[in-house]
Amino acid sequence: MISKCMLGFPCRYDGKSKPLDKEILEKLNQKYDLVPFCPEAFALPTPRPPARFIGDEIIDINGVNKTEAFLKGAKEALRICKKENIQIFIGKEKSPSCGIKKTSAYINGCECKCDVPGLTSKILQKEGIELISEWDLT
Ligand code: SF4
Repeated sequence: MISKCMLGFPCRYDGKSKPLDKEILEKLNQKYDLVPFCPEAFALPTPRPPARFIGDEIIDINGVNKTEAFLKGAKEALRICKKENIQIFIGKEKSPSCGIKKTSAYINGCECKCDVPGLTSKILQKEGIELISEWDLT
């Protein structure tokens, strides 16, 4: 499974995508049978207000708690992985859903990138799915 926005789908909070470099994508396509999925767009509209971790909860910039919606998307990712016997998740960094090495969070009132996986990545990892960061793709 791979974060859908990295394949050029405009599913990000701002209605845009973050496509991978063409050469990297070609290599990935040769190596894997890529299954694109966006946990946030599964449960929320696009565009949508950006959201960040505050403690264990995910709150959007309007102060609305979106944890349940993010969890719904994460559970759907896990359901698909189990159904399709998917062993690897390639995630978009700095996302509160798909981040692997960095996610966006507010800590002590400051915005920062915290070193924990995003919600979807964390749930997939707990079920034994290997996480690969976009930053480690060559
Ligand atoms: Fe991309 Fe994941 Fe954010 Fe969806 S939730 S836009 S797939 S980083």
